[in-house]
Amino acid sequence: MSDFSKGRKGPMSKKRECTICKHYGEETSGATELERATLYDEVGDPVPVLLCRKHSVELFKLGQKNFLLAHYKILLEVLDTDEKKFLNILERTVRKFPDLIV
Ligand SMILES: [Zn+2]
Repeated sequence: MSDFSKGRKGPMSKKRECTICKHYGEETSGATELERATLYDEVGDPVPVLLCRKHSVELFKLGQKNFLLAHYKILLEVLDTDEKKFLNILERTVRKFPDLIV
């Protein structure tokens, strides 16, 4: 069973957090070292996100598609978000490449 809901604090705060860590309900460590990154939706519109060092490196290594697929669990866990565009891209990617999820 998941104990994910234990740490839930309701609607997400507006403080600077890593987009990925935040959606896992985790505190971003070293919040001052967030890096700006850009994801692109299906029509190529840029969607800015903030990433911690770890996730920034991951995005760089994996590329957007594989990066998002690696974090598909966010879709299962997130109840509310202040980054709807990010979640839309994640959902579209997961739906488009369900076979690639491991
Ligand atoms: Zn992170």
